[in-house]
Amino acid sequence: MIGLIDDGSPPEATGPKPTRVRELAKEIFSETGQLCSALKLEHRPEQAQMARAVAAAMINDEPLLFEAGTGVGKSLAYLIPGLIHAVDQSRQLIVSTHTISLQEQIEQKDLPICRRIFKTTPELGRYADFRSAVLVGKSNYLCPTRLSHALADRTTLFADADYEELQRIAKWAETTTTGLRHDLKPPPRPEVWDAVNADSSNCSRKHCDAEKCHYQRARVRIRSAQVIIVNHALLFALINSGGAKSHGATTETRGVLFPDDFLVLDEAHTVPEVATNNFGLSLSSYGLDRALKYLFNPRTKRGIFRKQGGPQAQQLVIDALDASKLFFDFISDKLLTPRPMVRVRDTGVAEPMLDGPLGALQRLMGNLADKMEDGREHDEMLEQQQRIKGLQVEITEWLTLGDKGHVYWAERGGRKQTIVSLRSAPIDVAPELRKHLFGCRTSVVCTSAISSRARSGWTRAASTR
Ligand code: SF4
Repeated sequence: MIGLIDDGSPPEATGPKPTRVRELAKEIFSETGQLCSALKLEHRPEQAQMARAVAAAMINDEPLLFEAGTGVGKSLAYLIPGLIHAVDQSRQLIVSTHTISLQEQIEQKDLPICRRIFKTTPELGRYADFRSAVLVGKSNYLCPTRLSHALADRTTLFADADYEELQRIAKWAETTTTGLRHDLKPPPRPEVWDAVNADSSNCSRKHCDAEKCHYQRARVRIRSAQVIIVNHALLFALINSGGAKSHGATTETRGVLFPDDFLVLDEAHTVPEVATNNFGLSLSSYGLDRALKYLFNPRTKRGIFRKQGGPQAQQLVIDALDASKLFFDFISDKLLTPRPMVRVRDTGVAEPMLDGPLGALQRLMGNLADKMEDGREHDEMLEQQQRIKGLQVEITEWLTLGDKGHVYWAERGGRKQTIVSLRSAPIDVAPELRKHLFGCRTSVVCTSAISSRARSGWTRAASTR
């Protein structure tokens, strides 16, 4: 669960509104325009050319690939036209970058410059009040409801060391204004954060105080923002989980992430690689182990099956953990000795030895949920059942090489090289990019300072639109 506007209705369709982006982009970036006259920035012909090309692509809902070296001022050349177009048409501009440093530069330096430019003349004044927001994955937010339940169930869920960590998170929760994991220093331990983050929350909000919920407040900010900043990895993870369609867009509606949005991809040379990773499969022995031990950890005797399900459920988790160890050890011994990464070309490299234990676990969780009253524990049981089911489906796909358009492989990783991962990726990412970006009837501006790699992954995807 990574979406931010997962139950909001799409903005009202009001038909195309007039946009002044073409004339204003030409004026602002001209030798006598506001960039030079008011902000005393030097005139850069290439930047002006880019701003005009961006404006045209946005007006026509077309793709644009613009290569420009460092120092051209690319961010302003897409932000200023993008903001004008977003305000004029009541649409949302999504700006995606690869690196955090560029994201920070846009947020802290470039957007304030845009605001200053818009404030220089009354003609531009209406654009100066634009709202911006940074989109981060749902699992990065603390869920106050889960935190309070984790504190109440601490003896069931946590061993001593984990409980200390939970108390540290609870103390931080009293003062944090963002609820974002990266604001907690040092970072929380993953096993404990798993139990209190918003990712597993179905957010029915029946039992929540939305005012206290950082995630809900972020949703409100995102909904009202004219420009949303995101990174490529999250962008493609969200696209992969439905994109604009999961927010009410139809095949007739334009939009990539949200209905009626339009997109700029900066550092676009990295997009084919990020997209390839996200349109594939990635499941590790560590991830499965963590999911199972969240249900019941045989060493600490903690987990949701300490209270629900009893010894029968606990034994099913132990069986699944044993089967998982056998399965991944087999993959490691058979395929990954001595090489750490091996392509899998044939089905049946291993027996589907996890099918039985994971299937039994899933069925039992379904039965347990059926007998539970509506409420948080019921919802959590169903969410965990879905999590186990998702993992089982992925293992089956990997063993059967289920997607003919994908390449499959196994790899070893982690500090001690003991984590085994099952991976897949599309052989050709161009059709995916065409479908999920360039086929969305909206403008997708791709820009980069790096030429050769940028061209290789893009032109085929964008050209057939
Ligand atoms: S709405 Fe409720 S369940 Fe969802 S993240 Fe907020 S507090 Fe948690």
